[in-house]
Amino acid sequence: MNKPARRRGPGLFLCLAPFALSAVLLGAARRVPAWAEWYALHIYPLFPHTVGRLAGLIPLSLFELLLLALGAGALLLTAWVLLALAAPAARRGGGFFRPLCAGFGLLCLLFTLTAGINYNREPFADRYGLPVRAPAAGELRALYGELVAEAAAAAALGGAEAAEPNRSAANEWRKEARRAMSRLSRRYALISSYPPPKPVFFSPTMSRLGISGIFSPFTLEANYNSDMPAFQIPSALCHELAHLAGYMREEEANFIAYLACRESFSPAFRYSGALFALGYVLDALRAVSSAQEYAALLAELPPAAAEDFRLAGEYWRQYAGRAAELQTELNDAYLRANAQSAGVESYGLVVDLLLAYRRGDFSEQWKVESGKWLVESVSFYNGMDFRRGGWQFGLGGIGDSIRPRRMVSRTCAGT
Ligand SMILES: [Zn+2]
Repeated sequence: MNKPARRRGPGLFLCLAPFALSAVLLGAARRVPAWAEWYALHIYPLFPHTVGRLAGLIPLSLFELLLLALGAGALLLTAWVLLALAAPAARRGGGFFRPLCAGFGLLCLLFTLTAGINYNREPFADRYGLPVRAPAAGELRALYGELVAEAAAAAALGGAEAAEPNRSAANEWRKEARRAMSRLSRRYALISSYPPPKPVFFSPTMSRLGISGIFSPFTLEANYNSDMPAFQIPSALCHELAHLAGYMREEEANFIAYLACRESFSPAFRYSGALFALGYVLDALRAVSSAQEYAALLAELPPAAAEDFRLAGEYWRQYAGRAAELQTELNDAYLRANAQSAGVESYGLVVDLLLAYRRGDFSEQWKVESGKWLVESVSFYNGMDFRRGGWQFGLGGIGDSIRPRRMVSRTCAGT
C-alpha cells in the first residue's frame, strides 16, 4: 500500500495562481485601457486608503525594511543552494521553495494591482483634452520664458531662500506636499488624501544610485531621497505622491508634480516646481539651439535658480558612476517591461504636457507675465525629437533616476 505523499507548503496550483492572475489582469489592461482607467478610478484607491494609511502610521520606510529583508533572504537562499550542492542530504530541507514561489507570486499580484494595471490606464492628456502636438515656432521658448518668470516670482517671495539646505523645513514640506496634491484632486481624478512621504534612511546610497525617490507599490509609500539638494525635494515629494495617486507614467507624474507645486501656497514649492519643469524645458531647448543661443537662455535664469542648478550639478556629479548608470539601465528596462516604450526618456515627455497645458483651454490658468520669448522667428522645434537625450530629472519606476551625465548644462544645471 502506497503511503500518501507528504505535502510541503502550498501546492503547485497555489504557487502559480498569482502569476497567472497577474498575467490575465495585465493582458486585459493593455488591450482595454478604458478598463484600466475604470480600475484606477474605482478599485485602486482602496489600496492607498487602506494599506497606505496603515503604513503611513509608521514613520519608517517599510519599503526600505522590505528591501533589507529581501536582501537577507536572497543571501540565505544562496547559502542554502550552495549547501544543497555540496551536501545532497540537505535538499530534503528544501520544502520552502513552494512557499517562496507563492510569496513572490503574491508580490507580483500586489504589484499588478497597485502599479502594473495603472501603467496602462488612459493617458492623462486624453482624459483632460490636453492638445499634445509638435510645438509651433517659438512655443518652447515662450514656455521657457514663463517658467523663468514663475521661478523668479517664487524666488522673490522667499522660495529660493526656503529651499536652501534647511532640513527643519522637511516636516512642513511633507505636509504641504499632501495638501498640494489634495487641492489638485478638486480638478483632476486624484485621490483626495495621502499618507505622508517618507525620507529614506539610506538616502546617501540613493544618491550613489542616482535616485531621487521611489514609490513602493507593495507598501503604498512615497519614499524620497532626503540627502539631495533641498530645492529638489518638494517636486520629488509630489512626483512620488502622483504615483501613489495611481499615475504611474513618469511624464504624467512629472506633470502632476509640477501642477501641484505651481498651485501650492508655499513659495518653496512653486520655486521647486518651476525649476523642475525648467530642467526639462532647457534640455528640450538645448537639443534645438546653438551653443550661443543656449547660453543666452541660461543667462535668463534668475540668479538664485542658476546658482541652485550649479550646486545641484555639483552634488549629483560627485555620485556619477557605474552604479548610477546601472540603476538607470534597470529603470529603463523596468519601464519598458511596463509598456513604457520610451523607457527612462519618458520623464522628458513632460514637456509635451507642459506645452499642451499652456496652449489648450487651460491657458487661462497660466497667469504669468512674461513676453520675452513670446515672439521668435526661428523654429526651435522643427520636428526634432527633443525628448531624446532628456534631462532625466527622473524619479520613478524601480527608483526614479537622476542622470547627471546627461544634464542640461555642466555650467549651471544639475540634478
Ligand atoms: Zn516616477
